Amino acid sequence: MPSIVDMVDILERLESKALHIEPARCVKVRNRNASCTRCADACTSGAITVEGNSIDIDGEKCTGCGTCTAACPTQAIVCDKPSDEQLAEGLARSMDANGGMAAVICGRVAARKTADVDRVAEVLCLGRVDVPSLVGAAARGAQSIALIDGGCSTCKFRAAVPHIDATADEANALLEAWGSDVRVSRLDAVPQELAAHDREQATGGVSRRGFFTGVKSQAKNLATEAATYGIEKELGIAKEHATLRDTLKVGEDGCLPHGPIPRHEDLLESLFEMGEPDNVTIASHQWGSVTMDPEKCDNCGVCATFCPTGALSKVLRDAPKKPGRPAAKGAKELECLEFRLSDCVGCGTCADVCIGRAITVSHDIEASRVLELEPVSMRGAKRKRGIGGAWRS
Ligand code: SF4
Ligand code: SF4
Repeated sequence: MPSIVDMVDILERLESKALHIEPARCVKVRNRNASCTRCADACTSGAITVEGNSIDIDGEKCTGCGTCTAACPTQAIVCDKPSDEQLAEGLARSMDANGGMAAVICGRVAARKTADVDRVAEVLCLGRVDVPSLVGAAARGAQSIALIDGGCSTCKFRAAVPHIDATADEANALLEAWGSDVRVSRLDAVPQELAAHDREQATGGVSRRGFFTGVKSQAKNLATEAATYGIEKELGIAKEHATLRDTLKVGEDGCLPHGPIPRHEDLLESLFEMGEPDNVTIASHQWGSVTMDPEKCDNCGVCATFCPTGALSKVLRDAPKKPGRPAAKGAKELECLEFRLSDCVGCGTCADVCIGRAITVSHDIEASRVLELEPVSMRGAKRKRGIGGAWRS
């Protein structure tokens, strides 16, 4: 049974928890050779450590700004305050109330009680706002989008500024490529039309006190859960808890479990709604354009094994019987690789894990390829070295 010290530890750690981790989606957890450190690089308080196969968020240091959650290509860190759904609802509500302008304010603006609560969406820091949310607002009818800050240069989250600017620029590049007139602008004051006329109407700010109160009740539930588990364990009836090692097992397709990234799916859906893009190349970290040098590829398939989304996948065929050996039942070998740009989140893992350095991931993306559903086949010219080349189903 967990001791009271453990309980206090659980409570204290959760006090600064505005997010949770989906470890199986983190490319570093999936393969220690992945070079991704986007979350740690974006973190405004040095709370994230990405080392070897693990990622850790120091609850003491985390300020809950949410910037890491917008930076992670695989949504391995998920923002809970506000969730993507809550942010989308806030943007839609703002757009309806303002006749087309969707506005997001940061906690600093909210604390000044100058904005009308019904006319704006609120986040603690604008670093939490991600490209898919902005493009989604435009696809749902916003005529303009404003990110309103409370004076970033003197804010404790000011390290998020380059990230906020890059997010706005990237959303604008996508909107332009898709022929939309909607633009994301940065404002440092609440425009008159969004101003609160009395304190009743004003946003109260994402206060740490209010935030902690909500989180404390979650923590209580977790502590109760931990206690229940302790009792069950004492009685020998503890439920089996799947470990990450159990989850991350190579499946019949010869790859680790992979799946669509919800936020990436939302972005594709928004772009589908907006129609055909212009024939332009955009600089975007939402996708990667993967090319393979056939002269360097030995068809081991390790790139597809660790791809978190299945954008790179293996086409398998029955392995031929080896001379002088009994036929291995169910053995497969790689026929070729397939790459689908729409599913790629540009994490770069395929290039990082490729032993022959055959793969390049570019962030210059041809807009017309983003919505293509047909995969491109790729095959190496070198002989397979046998690493990961055959699987038993
Ligand atoms: S995949 Fe996401 S959580 Fe993992 S290291 Fe990269 S940014 Fe961090
Ligand atoms: S294809 Fe490469 S860059 Fe794209 S999601 Fe898969 S591993 Fe990441």
